[in-house]
Amino acid sequence: MKKRIGAIIAVVLLLTTAGVLLFTRREPAAEPRRESHFALGTVVSLTVYRPVSQDFFTGAFALVDEYEQKLSRNLEGSEISAVNRAAGEGSVAVSPETWDVIEEGLRYSRLSAGAFDITIGPLVSLWGIGTEAARVPEEREIDDALSLIDYQLVSQDEENRRIYLPEPGMALDPGAIAKGYIADRLAEYCLTRDIGNAIINLGGNILTLGTKPDGSPYRIGIQDPFSPRGSYIGIVTTADRSVVSSGVYERFFEKEGIRYHHILDTGTGRPVRNSLMGVSIISERSVDGDGLSTSVFALGLKQGRDLIESLDGVEAVFITDEKKVYNTTGLTGKFSLTAPSFTAGDQP
Ligand code: FAD
Ligand code: MG
Repeated sequence: MKKRIGAIIAVVLLLTTAGVLLFTRREPAAEPRRESHFALGTVVSLTVYRPVSQDFFTGAFALVDEYEQKLSRNLEGSEISAVNRAAGEGSVAVSPETWDVIEEGLRYSRLSAGAFDITIGPLVSLWGIGTEAARVPEEREIDDALSLIDYQLVSQDEENRRIYLPEPGMALDPGAIAKGYIADRLAEYCLTRDIGNAIINLGGNILTLGTKPDGSPYRIGIQDPFSPRGSYIGIVTTADRSVVSSGVYERFFEKEGIRYHHILDTGTGRPVRNSLMGVSIISERSVDGDGLSTSVFALGLKQGRDLIESLDGVEAVFITDEKKVYNTTGLTGKFSLTAPSFTAGDQP
């Protein structure tokens, strides 16, 4: 009898141990899985380090499409198009998401004292940079467009979430802020599905979630503004951060040897001309990276660097036309310059 009880106990112990081993066995490190989707005029890609179903990617890209339907100036049916069409006529009710994007745009318009301006729409349409209609406009056309650009005129009815542009022809353009906002929403999408390690990439607007599965940080290349896409001047080592760049290389056309790029000066009405060729912002929220990269690019090296140093939790890399590279103090040790043709500029 004793023998039998002993045997039963042994079997139970064996099974329990096997069960515990089975359930606590660490998942083998999964190969990263990456899926891409064309939206927002660019390639959106999502890399995750855990096995996920196809539905995970389908849902994420559907979310991006949903935001595009609301925010795109290229779609007649979007909320932004509705607000712009009603300029000078009446206010338009918008969804909470569109409201938030406009709010963020207004915030950066104020922070940069209008160097970034969410009402830049008429000027963007006039130049048509990145479209087949790109051209150098007449001075008079530029002046007319400039007279319609003033973020301070945007009227908001917060209670009813209505937006009003008081002058006919005024137009909001969320192109410099919306990708960052959408990247942040994709991060929430991942986190609510228990995906804590991921890379969200909206056409170079990058948001990293957590670390790599082995605990090491991500290494993000900073685009060389003088070379084709995918050539880097250096590497930022980072975890749980967004890395967003703005530069002369992103969208442009050339005429008579002059490059006309897509970030416009709200003073001159022409592409911004200062010593900067590119700027990258490292921040927690991607919407801040997007808003700040365009703002800093428009403000120039000195003012841009002062602005970033004045903000908590935000760092930047600046690349000038003399191939000098500057980084903010908080990036020391986290940014390494790797391209031999660039030199580190004086740090402040
Ligand atoms: P950023 O520096 O972040 O932004 C530059 C863009 O901001 C410019 O292209 C202009 O739109 C605007 N801008 C210029 N100067 C200023 C300024 N001083 N202040 C504020 N804003 C300024 N591209 C397509 O080709 N086809 C599409 O159908 C299309 N749909 C899109 C839909 C959505 C919702 C969004 C967000 C983008 C879409 N795009 C599309 C891309 C868009 O046109 C811009 O090229 C892109 O958003 C610029 O991002 P960036 O990171 O390169 O530059
Ligand atoms: Mg931007």
